[in-house]
Amino acid sequence: MDNKLLPDNPYLLLTPGPLSTSKTVKAVMLRDWCTWDDDYNLNIVQEIRQRLVKLATSAFDEYSSVLIQGSGTFGVESVLGSALAPASKLLIIANGAYGSRMVQIAQVLNIPHLVYDLPEVNAPDIDEVRQLLEENPDITHLAVVHCETTTGILNPIKEITTLAKKYNKITIVDAMSSFGGIPIDAKEWQIDFLISSANKCIQGVPGFSFIIARKERLEECKGRARSLSLDLYDQWITMEKGGGKWRFTSPTHVVRAFLQALHELEDEGGIEKRYERYSKNQKTLLEGMRKIGIEPLLPDSLHSPIITSFLSPNSEAYSFKKLYDLLKQNGFVIYPGKVTQGDTFRIGNIGEVYPDDMEKLTEAISKIKFW
Ligand SMILES: *Cc1c(COP(=O)(O)O)cnc(C)c1O
Repeated sequence: MDNKLLPDNPYLLLTPGPLSTSKTVKAVMLRDWCTWDDDYNLNIVQEIRQRLVKLATSAFDEYSSVLIQGSGTFGVESVLGSALAPASKLLIIANGAYGSRMVQIAQVLNIPHLVYDLPEVNAPDIDEVRQLLEENPDITHLAVVHCETTTGILNPIKEITTLAKKYNKITIVDAMSSFGGIPIDAKEWQIDFLISSANKCIQGVPGFSFIIARKERLEECKGRARSLSLDLYDQWITMEKGGGKWRFTSPTHVVRAFLQALHELEDEGGIEKRYERYSKNQKTLLEGMRKIGIEPLLPDSLHSPIITSFLSPNSEAYSFKKLYDLLKQNGFVIYPGKVTQGDTFRIGNIGEVYPDDMEKLTEAISKIKFW
């Protein structure tokens, strides 16, 4: 298939995610796969599982990976619902919508939990985390979001997870919007369960989430699941013993596209290089916006290179809908704000997106008469 025959996207998705993917990622979805054939399981699923572990840690013999059907939240729910025994207790650090979603999951699944609840513009305070761990010795697990996509804040997870390990806690990290775009070493950072999904920084299409976890932690999940389809242990052991087999129908096209996306990540030079590109994208975006007089919600020191929240202008002429429609006509789709403190909008810069796209975007914004 000649990729030139594939249609161009009418606009760039600056909305992680789904995000803009390459034509080559989309092109490999133009054939069908049999879910129980070796061509699919051994050659695609197993290769993906091994590559994921190698991207997550240099100690790849101590970790394994599991793929789960559904969006990122399914992966988070699978881990929370399978990793905690009935008598376990979870400390959740929440400074945004995705931290709050973990709280919701704990409520629905009846998991005993404690929330360290913070305003969306605040990073967790390591001394306060220590105090919570000191005061609540019944806590067994700690869960935290790496990049809170709500604002774009980058939480200091390494400090938090290494602290949690000093207190012998099991650590769970929602690295949904950072894994593949920001270097992480799961072993060095003392992470037991790391969760991400196909349609974020690996630059695949939506359809499954994945968990990279310490093997002994996965073993402990046996018999603990609070759901059949989200049973992390059962999904893992079926993939391990069945040579890449999924328990239920897998999103075969999405999985094939994901392998292509992993090859393209390698071709780009790996996570370090992708991190450099995303950082350059975000820097170009911030500089361009500041020239127009648009300021970000967060101080630069708290920012991730993934997504940025900007303060909406104080002008009568402004509405998010108008901004959205005008930018869409110019080839860019952006995100509404999600914070409770103040009126904002968000621009993501991950995916098949480059610094000159950010220049074109800020040029288009500068022509709009809200500022
Ligand atoms: C995208 C995302 C999720 C998962 O959201 P889904 O809509 O289920 O894909 C979870 N946590 C974070 C930080 C995210 O960015």
